[in-house]
Amino acid sequence: MPYEIKGLNEECGIFGAWGTTEASHLTYFGLHSLQHRGQEGAGIVVSDGQSLQQFRGRGLLAEVFSNESDLENLKGTAAIGHVRYGTSGNNILANVQPFLFHFHDGDVALAHNGNLTNAASLKRELEDQGAIFQSTSDTEILIHLIRQKKDLDFITALKQSLNQIHGGFAFVLLRKDSLIAALDPNGFRPLSVGQLDSGEYVIASETCAFDMIGAKFVRDVQPGELIMINKTGLHIDHYTQKTKLSICSMEYIYFARPDSIIHGVTVHNARKKMGRLLAQQAPVDADMVIGVPNSSLSAASGFAEESGLPYEMGLIKSQYIARTFIQPTQELRERGVKMKLSAVRGVVEGKRVVIVDDSIVRGTTSKQLVHLLKEAGAKEVHMRIASPPLRFPCFYGIDISTRSELMAANYTVAQMRQIIDADSLSFLSIENLIAAIALKDAQKAPNGGLCVAYFDGKYPTPLYDYEAGYLKSLKRQQTREVIG
Ligand code: AMP
Repeated sequence: MPYEIKGLNEECGIFGAWGTTEASHLTYFGLHSLQHRGQEGAGIVVSDGQSLQQFRGRGLLAEVFSNESDLENLKGTAAIGHVRYGTSGNNILANVQPFLFHFHDGDVALAHNGNLTNAASLKRELEDQGAIFQSTSDTEILIHLIRQKKDLDFITALKQSLNQIHGGFAFVLLRKDSLIAALDPNGFRPLSVGQLDSGEYVIASETCAFDMIGAKFVRDVQPGELIMINKTGLHIDHYTQKTKLSICSMEYIYFARPDSIIHGVTVHNARKKMGRLLAQQAPVDADMVIGVPNSSLSAASGFAEESGLPYEMGLIKSQYIARTFIQPTQELRERGVKMKLSAVRGVVEGKRVVIVDDSIVRGTTSKQLVHLLKEAGAKEVHMRIASPPLRFPCFYGIDISTRSELMAANYTVAQMRQIIDADSLSFLSIENLIAAIALKDAQKAPNGGLCVAYFDGKYPTPLYDYEAGYLKSLKRQQTREVIG
């Protein structure tokens, strides 16, 4: 099976609220601040204590809930919600979450952020046993696994099912009597619990959702945990004790919002430190530092502070364009960069510019940025990347593409510099990345509690369905390198 199994990836934002008549509105606002985690679809399921009701659609949250009545009609005291970031080919309504199932013994809804590494084989097994899937998403697998265990109570069935799936997953589930959250044994994806002043609990992919609704942070969901919120309060349980934190470093580098706090680390501060360490590691004799709005501004400010160079606004971002990476084809992606960013001639003309970006994936953005800046008169353009070269794909829920598309998997740094036409190019080292994030409670864990597999190819778990295809593709690549 090729490892490039597209259409099973989910990279999303999830939210849940319990015990408040404002449930669907709180979920809407929570999702609004998680919109950066997915713009392809959004949905909310609400519970009135008896049955569950759903509203979902394709597009941005505000496009999906475009009439006031869409939210008003979702009356209830508990809700879960989802914003979806899928990959090309599966942007269909059937894949928009939360998924809602009406069983004879009650309704269940679920929403998922992550990617399962044994989804394809589980799906095949389940279909052989008669299961009928509604979507092409891996999320649905969990519900089929739970329903297979008819003789067990829901929580026991859920715990056993969570032990059957592998990969990166953060789930929220809603039933008429409880809101449930679960995180994979490596805690690849962030998930936190918050509390409103009035005492009710909420769950969110990122803490920025709590700030939006006036909730205070209670705790991060830990790897292997199963958290249940019901009328008697918050209950913390485990479905496995075999856990090892390796949270995705790309959350800190690019994906999460700078104001979120993940495992005690403010994302902005981590990015700023990445910029500082990068300036120490690869200093430049230049006139100014500029960042690529918005995801690189924190790192650029750190680079400027450390190097003593002025921090300037040399690039302007249109506020009315979604992330370029989301565009499915390379042609659209290239046009997307131009629509999104413009250089400020009056700032960069005749100047030696250091431009800091958070990462290079396919190289589309960097190439165009250098071109934009030179066209606007920059004398020299030095590219500094606040993460190590992305050489390996992610199997746990970040769309880091296939190896064939990753620029750093196919070219040396010197070749990349040439291709993007920069005067110099440097990346942050893996050691400095780990030092910049510095998770306090995980200092002694491998890689300081982070997953850095995109940079070193050392995956913290077996790759299951992806293993054979991935190894084959690596071999193909090595053969090409030897021949070439
Ligand atoms: P590229 O143009 O393909 O090299 O993409 C690089 C840009 O995409 C970077 O400037 C990042 O801000 C952004 N980026 C990095 N990783 C991801 C990701 N997994 N999903 C979407 N965008 C990303």
